Amino acid sequence: MDPEEYRRRGKEMVDYICQYLSNVRERRVTPDVQPGYMRAQLPDSAPVDPDSWDNIFGDIEKIIMPGVVHWQSPHMHAYFPALTSWPSLLGDMLADAINCLGFTWASSPACTELEMNVMDWLAKMLGLPDKFLHHHPDSVGGGVLQSTVSESTLVALLAARKNRILEMKVSEPDTDESSLNTRLIAYASDQAHSSVEKAGLISLVKMKFLPVDENFSLRGETLKKAIAEDRKKGLVPVFVCATLGTTGVCAFDSLSELGPICDAEGLWLHIDAAYAGTAFVCPEFRLFLNGIEYADSFTFNPSKWMMVHFDCTGFWVKDKYKLHQTFSVNPVYLRHPNSGAAVDFMHWQIPLSRRFRSLKLWFVIRSFGVKKLQDHVRHVSKFFESLVKSDPLFEIPAKRHLGLVVFRIKGPNWLTEKLLKELSSSGRVFLVPATIHDKFIIRFTVTSQFTTREDILQDWNIIQHTAARIVSQNYCGKENADFCLTSPGNGQFLAGRLEPF
Ligand code: PLP
Repeated sequence: MDPEEYRRRGKEMVDYICQYLSNVRERRVTPDVQPGYMRAQLPDSAPVDPDSWDNIFGDIEKIIMPGVVHWQSPHMHAYFPALTSWPSLLGDMLADAINCLGFTWASSPACTELEMNVMDWLAKMLGLPDKFLHHHPDSVGGGVLQSTVSESTLVALLAARKNRILEMKVSEPDTDESSLNTRLIAYASDQAHSSVEKAGLISLVKMKFLPVDENFSLRGETLKKAIAEDRKKGLVPVFVCATLGTTGVCAFDSLSELGPICDAEGLWLHIDAAYAGTAFVCPEFRLFLNGIEYADSFTFNPSKWMMVHFDCTGFWVKDKYKLHQTFSVNPVYLRHPNSGAAVDFMHWQIPLSRRFRSLKLWFVIRSFGVKKLQDHVRHVSKFFESLVKSDPLFEIPAKRHLGLVVFRIKGPNWLTEKLLKELSSSGRVFLVPATIHDKFIIRFTVTSQFTTREDILQDWNIIQHTAARIVSQNYCGKENADFCLTSPGNGQFLAGRLEPF
């Protein structure tokens, strides 16, 4: 392909992308394919001779799209949002063309400098403390873009582990680092994301998952008790991962209680706000941040709710030297005249190479401005919640926080399990389950920037009618019903029992 063809094909691709995203609601949200579906459509080996672009482009609709889950569809309500936006897409288009690997300041100064400035903007937008800023006289911290929250949590745990092992070495200089490692223990709530467990597996730091209160929140007393018990056993508490916005029901750990305990006990406090972090652009949601002054690190995904497409994870630390002492290697070929004076992000992360991710973040923040980003956050799933609440067939078993509504059919779990199975096989809406206190629940979140009230109403109608049919097929017209309901969805009279007849 020469530059002229690239120009022509690039325009075609932009048209295709515009058309795809503008009409994505017309497509079935989940694909109707089985594992291995693509095998028969592709040759066994790579082509020896060049293929024409027309052939390659034609295969997108023929081979790729039939197997795509359309995450940008208004009928996608699974997981957490992975939003994108036009300025974000343009940012990566440019970053991909520049394709610099900004591991050191010298390897592409603009890459490092834009990231430092935009991370400071973002920290201020969220109301994070000054200790997380690059450009502040009292700060030795700063922010960096990582690929994922999983990676950020691992980086934080590795830094906390290294720091504690160095401290232990002072009184036990002859003990091997690996045996000191075996005495370390870290904590998170039993609602924490699986990435916290994975960080423990990789670092070989024991991870204890602590019970939560009735609001699914990890409280100070629980942590205090666990630390005391573990110290008695000779273990060395080192790290707490507090979650703001859990994956299951979007619950918030009590930072204001956990923070002072971590401070008094000398534990690294890391905060995982993967989804909910974006909400803090609105001051009214910042009460969940009370206690943030005690945090050693904080991470969230602009790639979830902030319309900066994947990958883009903000990670801030209050002491960058704790990262340096964990990740610094200094081969001759990476040294430069400003080493030490300038920020080299290779010392803040696991890989060496890094993409120019801050461009898309910069484009999004500038194109929307803080006010429009706040409006975007304030437009949450209250409408869906009101629909669920209006139907007595359903219950909302945990308080809605931000854009996540969890719901279930009243009665035994198998009803909700059946509902989810039928919804999934229809391909018209995509939802995923969770469990809370043995209750099977369905999570609903708006994941598309194109979602309208009509889209939500259409999806609710599908959910409501499917549920009504399941309940009536299993219960109605039967004797000895345990409950009777009228579904406003179809006006049907429903009689039920807590077990199938
Ligand atoms: N933490 C929480 C609370 C999450 O909800 C998620 C994913 O949704 C993650 C971590 C993992 O995020 P990532 O895919 O960026 O590693």
